[in-house]
Amino acid sequence: MSEAIEVINPYTGTCVGKVPRGGAAEVDAAVRRAKEAMQAMRNMPLHRRAAILKKTSQLLQERAEAFAQLITQESGKTIRETRAEVARAAAIFEYAAEEARRLHGETLPFDAFPNGENHIGFYLREPVGIVGAITPWNVPLALAAHKIAPALASGNCVVLKPAEQTPLNALRLAQALREAGLPEGALEVVTGYGEEAGDALVTHPDVGFLSFTGSREVGIGLPARAGYKRVALELGGNSPIIVTQSADIERAAEAIVRGGYAVAGQLCISVQRILVHRTVREVLLEKLIARIRQLRLGDPLDEATDVGVLISKEACDRVEKAVQEAVQAGAKAAIGGKRIGPAAFEPTLLTDVRQDMPIAINEAFAPLTLLIEFDTLDEAIAMANATPYGLNAGIYTRDIEEALSAANAIVAGSVMINEVPTFRSDLMPYGGRKQSGLGREGVRFAMEEMTETKVVCIQRL
Ligand code: NAD
Repeated sequence: MSEAIEVINPYTGTCVGKVPRGGAAEVDAAVRRAKEAMQAMRNMPLHRRAAILKKTSQLLQERAEAFAQLITQESGKTIRETRAEVARAAAIFEYAAEEARRLHGETLPFDAFPNGENHIGFYLREPVGIVGAITPWNVPLALAAHKIAPALASGNCVVLKPAEQTPLNALRLAQALREAGLPEGALEVVTGYGEEAGDALVTHPDVGFLSFTGSREVGIGLPARAGYKRVALELGGNSPIIVTQSADIERAAEAIVRGGYAVAGQLCISVQRILVHRTVREVLLEKLIARIRQLRLGDPLDEATDVGVLISKEACDRVEKAVQEAVQAGAKAAIGGKRIGPAAFEPTLLTDVRQDMPIAINEAFAPLTLLIEFDTLDEAIAMANATPYGLNAGIYTRDIEEALSAANAIVAGSVMINEVPTFRSDLMPYGGRKQSGLGREGVRFAMEEMTETKVVCIQRL
């Protein structure tokens, strides 16, 4: 395909750069090159893989400001957010360098069963071969790192299809990996649209593992189209935070605003629903409004800006419509509620929301939080679970029984106690339940998913 894709800065509307519009032929060629590199990667000693990953981390740190500026221009995220993202990506590569050295199996005590007498052995972990990675635009560098770093650490080759909105930083990352010593073909980047290049990667028979991060709408259909390959899905969310009567309301309010409006609410683990005990509703609401009012909107490249823009005009149309419909159904904007630019929406808090409203069920992916009251913890937990999603959840409470009940009964990949669901550490197993995904990321856990076990068994003569 000869056409190019223009990368548009969502804040200025100007063109940041152009990338090729790859399709099935480009994906096929990339997979072929990756296949040729497979033996080199598999044979590469672990210390060498570790050295490449560590060097990549160093290069990212050295080039941090240029990466951050580029991602801000591609995505509309604020410069403070993209600086933090680059630092995080560098840390992921460094951590993967350490984990590469721990890629071990274990010995197997075969004589634990009668048929195993006189047998000794072990299992080892082998790479699946080629990892197909598809990433979204909202955390483009760190989420690519979350796939590439563990894949290479465990000896795989990778074909990456970055989001069409933010492909430039992926190409720059690939360049850094090459400079760090990665063999030709071990990481291929194919830029293009999801239905073209993305689909070709999903269906390619030589891809052994498909690692997809993106929307529920796209992700849910992928396993059926992927054919006989392993699939991991990191999909959307609609994170609840429960605030009980005993909570530290001050801390809860501060964290909720941080977790609800970072990246203009465009995180899969953004706080969306604030489930508050009726008796503390007023005090929480007052503190939330005061903090939301302090958020500075503006040019994402300006250091002072707290909330940048949405990824596109269409994304802004979607949130505007959802808010209007919610207001027509009885919700009230306690603060915000309006569009303030082609791709900019005011940080908004809606009250008088019921859990059965579409806005409380669907993923908002916008600078929008919803306040919903409850009377009993059981009711709060039932509401927390009342969406198709199950990514992260949280509870603010000083009561250990309440905390443990929530941790036990909420169906989610993580339950945070006195922390917002937006908290993520790259060492934890991370992923969703229900329609928020299949499988787990987090360097060590991704390495498990990207490797096959092989048993070696020896009978003593
Ligand atoms: P998206 O699903 O539209 O696109 C994600 C990627 O999939 C892009 O690279 C896109 O080109 C590709 N794609 C689109 N259609 C495809 C197809 N038919 N076949 C193969 N690939 C295809 O999502 P987005 O708008 O880029 O990202 C936002 C979504 O991602 C939100 O729902 C968010 O919650 C989710 N997300 C989840 C996590 C997580 O870790 N669970 C992290 C970040 C974002």
